[in-house]
Amino acid sequence: MRIQMSLEKQSYDILLDHKAILQLPYEIKNIYKGQKVFIVTDENVYKFYANTLKSLLAEFNVSFVVVAPGEQAKSLAIYESVIDTLMEQDMKRSDLLIAFGGGVIGDLVGFVASTMYRGVPYIQIPTTLLAQVDSSVGGKTAINSHKGKNMIGTFYQPKLVIIDPDFLRTLPNFEYKNGMAEVIKSAYIGDVVLQEKLFKGQIKTLEMIERAILVKRNVVLKDEFDLNERMFLNFGHTFGHALEKQSNYEIAHGFAVAEGMLMAVHIGEKLGITPKHIQKDLRMILEKYDLGLLKSDPVTLIDDVFYDKKNTHGELKMIFITDIGKPVIQPVSKEALYECYHSQASK
Ligand code: ADP
Ligand code: ZN
Repeated sequence: MRIQMSLEKQSYDILLDHKAILQLPYEIKNIYKGQKVFIVTDENVYKFYANTLKSLLAEFNVSFVVVAPGEQAKSLAIYESVIDTLMEQDMKRSDLLIAFGGGVIGDLVGFVASTMYRGVPYIQIPTTLLAQVDSSVGGKTAINSHKGKNMIGTFYQPKLVIIDPDFLRTLPNFEYKNGMAEVIKSAYIGDVVLQEKLFKGQIKTLEMIERAILVKRNVVLKDEFDLNERMFLNFGHTFGHALEKQSNYEIAHGFAVAEGMLMAVHIGEKLGITPKHIQKDLRMILEKYDLGLLKSDPVTLIDDVFYDKKNTHGELKMIFITDIGKPVIQPVSKEALYECYHSQASK
C-alpha cells in the first residue's frame, strides 16, 4: 500500500508492504534519472542485507558507506566521515542517497542528505520496528552534540520511504520490543482500534505498522515543524527522556517511554485528566509486550525534568490523554507533580 505524505512544499509516498523492497529499482526510476546510488548503512544491516540490495540494484552503479552500529554513529565525527567518504566516492549534488538501517542510520543519513551540498535527494529504508513506525516518518533528522541527544538537526523530507516488515525477521527481540513502545504510544494518542487489537494481542505486523504510521502522519501533516499537534507524539517522552538520561542511556528509548507513559497516565489520573481504567489497560498491554515496570524513582525524574534547561520557566507542558486516542497538552508545575506522587505514598 501507499501512504501519501502531502506536505506544503513537497509530497512523497511511503510504500508499505511485505517484500516492498523488491519495488526499489522501479521506485528509484520514478524519482531519479541518474545511475549512481549511494547507500549508507551500519555493519549489522550490511551483513544481513547488502547482497540483497546489490542484486536488486544490479542495473545501477551502487556504492556503500558502512558505519559501526550504535548511537555513537550520530556524532559530528561520524557525520563528517560519512560526508568525506561520499565525496571520495565522487558523489555529486544530484546523485541519490539511501538511508538503509534503523533509526540511528535514518537520523544520521537524513542529516547528511539535508546538509551535503545544501541538500541531496534521498530515500529512507528503515529496518527496525522503531524506525518503521516512528523515526523514518516525518522528516526530522538529527545527530547528537556533547550537550545532548538530537541537538543538531533539520527538517528534511525524503523523496520516498520504503517499509518492508520482512526486514524485522532478523531484528533482535530486544529491538522489536523497543519499537513496540512507540506503537503502543501511537495507539494511545491516536488509534483506539489499534489499542483494542494490541490489548487482545490480535494484530498482524503489517496492519500494526500501518496504523502506527497513520497516527504519526496525521499529526505531522497538521504540524510539520513541531509547534503544536506534533507535540502529541511526545506522550510518555517527558519522563521517558529523563529516565534514559538518568540511566546514562543504558535504558533503551522504548523501555523508557513505556515507563514515561505510565507516569503520564498516573499523573493525568491524579490531576483528573485521565480516566481511571486507562492505567490498568496500559499496564496490561506493556506487560504483554514485555515492556513493563522498571525501577524508576518518579521524584528524581521530576527534579531532572525541571533541571533540564528547556523547562526552567516554572511550568512544564506535558501530554496527557483524556481517553484512548485523545491527547491534550497541559502545563503542570513541579509542585503539582510532586503532589501526584506524595499523595500516593501517604495512602
Ligand atoms: P533504532 O532503530 O532503535 O533507533 P538502531 O538504528 O541503533 O536503533 O538499530 C538498533 C540495532 O538493530 C542496531 O544494532 C542495528 O545494527 C540493528 N539492526 C537494524 N536493523 C536490523 C535488522 N533488520 N536486522 C537485524 N539487526 C538490525
Ligand atoms: Zn520516541
